Amino acid sequence: VSLVRPGADDLERAAEAALRPRRLEEFVGQRVVRDQLSLVLEAALGRGRAPDHVLLSGPPGLGKTTLAMIIAAELGASLRVTSGPAIQHAGDLAAVLSSLEEGEVLFLDEIHRLARPAEELLYVAMEDFRVDVVVGKGAGASAIPLSLPPFTVVGATTRAGLLPAPLRDRFGFTGHLDFYSDDELERVLVRSAGLLGAPLEAAAAAEIASRSRGTPRIANRLLRRVRDWAQVRGDGRMSLDAARAALEVYEVDARGLDRLDRSVLDALCRRFGGGPVGLTTLAVAVGEEPETVETVAEPFLVREGLVGRTPRGRVALPAAWEHLGLVPPSAGGT
Ligand code: ATP
Repeated sequence: VSLVRPGADDLERAAEAALRPRRLEEFVGQRVVRDQLSLVLEAALGRGRAPDHVLLSGPPGLGKTTLAMIIAAELGASLRVTSGPAIQHAGDLAAVLSSLEEGEVLFLDEIHRLARPAEELLYVAMEDFRVDVVVGKGAGASAIPLSLPPFTVVGATTRAGLLPAPLRDRFGFTGHLDFYSDDELERVLVRSAGLLGAPLEAAAAAEIASRSRGTPRIANRLLRRVRDWAQVRGDGRMSLDAARAALEVYEVDARGLDRLDRSVLDALCRRFGGGPVGLTTLAVAVGEEPETVETVAEPFLVREGLVGRTPRGRVALPAAWEHLGLVPPSAGGT
């Protein structure tokens, strides 16, 4: 398992729970979304009504779940949590919706993965606060409309563009989360270290931040590993040396690349002279499935300007050569 992938499993989510900001003012960065959201929430509170439905979009690990919890907390409402993949049938969603109490917040993670019939049920519930409960089967089946108390859906998706327009249109407000700056990640780290009761030096915070791929989840994860190192091999303080030594043990390099990322770059530059090379050939060279290279390693390499995709295959960009300490073959070379 890699320390620099953005997703999380249940075990990690449990460790994360202790580090989650509880209120909007504790939420680091994302100033635009925070400002917009605080207006939506304050206005709703002032009117004593449930706010419009909120859609949060952005890559994993940037704080969508955290914001959903914050929205409920700011409204003084309770939060119900489910996700697109967890809802197998429209009936499952109908059951959740019909049990909602007035003002509750329903967090629907990975909303783009809802099955079609559930999605249609959701439109109606969001727009008219109504759910049609189907009783009976076959020709004798009938739908009994059940009205719902006002509630707020907070939907989360990694790509708002994947949502069908009719569903997207039911959200009164969409907040786009973007990758964090190193500065913001340092603030996340300092806050987390405080909560963990582990002293973190400023230079160490900067070092960890610069390897965290703009993602608070990765920053917190690296912090926990640096804390282990400081405790077991160091003097307990998370100093710059401790941070560097720990991240070397875990093979997270200065740009936040791990072993797979580096071996892709290495194959691309050393074996294929910088490309272009097809995905399958590249994958064979690093001993991985093409899908792993494409979905696990490539997005970050492309985002960082290390690898380019061309119609003829993958190419190493100048930054890749530089990162590996190699000199690119000169453009006019033989
Ligand atoms: P996924 O889509 O994988 O569920 P997510 O976008 O919902 O990810 P969260 O679970 O909310 O991400 O955040 C991951 C971790 O990062 C949590 O521990 C959270 O506390 C921390 N975190 C995220 N955003 C912030 C922030 N702005 N300030 C402080 N901590 C943050």
